[in-house]
Amino acid sequence: MLAITHHRDYKKYDLGMDHPLIGDKPEKTIEFFKEKNILSYADLFEPQKAAEKDISTVHDRDYIQLVKHLSRTGGMLALDTPAPKGIYEAAALACGGSILAAEKLYTGYNYSMNTLGGFHHASRRNSSGFCFFNDIAVSIEHIRGEKKTRRFLIIDLDVHHGNGTQDIYYNDPSVLNISFHQDGRTLYPGSGFIHEIGEGDGKGFTVNMPFLPGTGNESYFYAFEEIVPILVEEFKPQLIIYQAGVDTHHSDPLAEINLTLLFYFNIAGKIKKLAKESCNKLLILLGGGYNSISSIKAYYNIAAALVDKKPLFEEEIKDPNLGKTKKKVKELKKILDPFWGFKR
Ligand SMILES: [Zn+2]
Repeated sequence: MLAITHHRDYKKYDLGMDHPLIGDKPEKTIEFFKEKNILSYADLFEPQKAAEKDISTVHDRDYIQLVKHLSRTGGMLALDTPAPKGIYEAAALACGGSILAAEKLYTGYNYSMNTLGGFHHASRRNSSGFCFFNDIAVSIEHIRGEKKTRRFLIIDLDVHHGNGTQDIYYNDPSVLNISFHQDGRTLYPGSGFIHEIGEGDGKGFTVNMPFLPGTGNESYFYAFEEIVPILVEEFKPQLIIYQAGVDTHHSDPLAEINLTLLFYFNIAGKIKKLAKESCNKLLILLGGGYNSISSIKAYYNIAAALVDKKPLFEEEIKDPNLGKTKKKVKELKKILDPFWGFKR
């Protein structure tokens, strides 16, 4: 069974009229889920704001105070990230939704989803990329504090590199962070290259797979199959977090990856299968997506895969980059070989 966390105040996470992050997307997502009968197969829960003590397991006090201050006065967190009044409450509520969705995995649900989450650009003491608090890390630390779960796997498929999450866990072998994204030479935040694999005890526990602009479904599936199942088998995660950004869709105005709707259905099915074979606990955070109409359809296809409903289709797009992707995957596997059993 699927648990979904959602709050009508999610719409207050809105960065302004001229900004690509539009506040009503979570509400429209839930409305579409209702219309398409997803909610007959899922239970809906309303979260509360995350407590400051939860947020402070990840973020420095000074940074939290800065967000609180901006939330009172209005202002800018970063050049691309305006801080409207009330943003502290909205960002804390999004974190609360991810925490609650994670908790549901310990009360009989195998899959859970937060309609506003996946803020992967937020680091401990700074942030940009429309993110304030890293709800992925806040949820991990909450669960680590409350449950016996000790190994966390992040599969971050948002089109942007999850640099904040990477910073937070770069030295930490308890969190295996896999990020697939558009090549950092061509897109914000400009990081996530294959040689970034973690440091110290965390070496080998950060995995980055960049894709060239114009890449389509075939490359993504190829790279996923070559890399992810082996890591799941060897790492043996006790909780899997899927950052389900859909700004990889071909219609997205901020990036240049060409995935189609069917991709999201099929990849969610693959991740569901991996969760079933490992820990039976899958937390899905509906991350980036800046063409609202196609984003909502893509989110629907993810939910449809979880509750065994039929997907939405659209015309497929040919992938011109499969050869280049195969070469990059080979290089990445060579770098990861000392840590994981790719040679078997
Ligand atoms: Zn993104």
